[in-house]
Amino acid sequence: MEKVTSQSLATVYGPVNSWRVGKSLGIDLLCVNSICSFRCIYCQLGKINDHTLTRKVYVPTAQVMRDLAQSDWPSADVITFSGSGEPTLATNLGEVLRAIKKFTAKPIIVLTNATLLGSADVRRDLLAADKIFCKLDAARERTWQLINRPVAGLTLRETIVGITALRQEYRGHLAIQTMVLPINVKELEELSELLKEIQPDEVQLNLPSRPVPQEWLFEARGNHQLQMEKAAKFKQIKRAELERIAAKLQTQTGLPITLPHHA
Ligand code: SF4
Repeated sequence: MEKVTSQSLATVYGPVNSWRVGKSLGIDLLCVNSICSFRCIYCQLGKINDHTLTRKVYVPTAQVMRDLAQSDWPSADVITFSGSGEPTLATNLGEVLRAIKKFTAKPIIVLTNATLLGSADVRRDLLAADKIFCKLDAARERTWQLINRPVAGLTLRETIVGITALRQEYRGHLAIQTMVLPINVKELEELSELLKEIQPDEVQLNLPSRPVPQEWLFEARGNHQLQMEKAAKFKQIKRAELERIAAKLQTQTGLPITLPHHA
């Protein structure tokens, strides 16, 4: 798919309704392409074209702030950094976060796959967020590689070390997000051990409910109801099974576990 230029795309989208956080205004610092250090098997964006660990400015901060001022930001409950890939790959993440904090008092959430949290610069960039949701889909290295398909050289252990460092430095609300799939339900004991090590404020369990396009689909960044002809859908575990998993994790870790309403 041909690349599109940052000038032709809004860096701000929505607000979109999220069962978890309410009306969410999306901030996309990567909207020039699909850019991520993962290629998750369930990624709603479809194909990640730029599979990378390179941090740089993809869209200028001034453009983000212009788009924000023109958006329907007053109607949003929260402002969420997510969009066309992994937000921590943008070196102006911290600058944009602080600029938005000056612009509005709305709470800011950052969704991250946590692969860059080993960097002190990245952790510092995140400190201005009110909530950080870190992805952790597996407790075993092999399963993590299979589900998330990271850039070569990344490891689950290094990612856990990064999340734990963030936990020690960050005073806001830190949640772990886990996509529950048939492939990782056998790792609950190990996942409990990792969660006890990290000590997040919350554990959010998700199910892969969104279609997976075959190619990068820009519109999929914030649209949960997109209809598409060629898209994969994942076999989901049953609600009763998810509730059993949540109860077990809660007992083993003592942490609050949140389930999707729509499961
Ligand atoms: S971390 Fe998010 S954007 Fe990146 S591949 Fe996974 S689901 Fe897609």
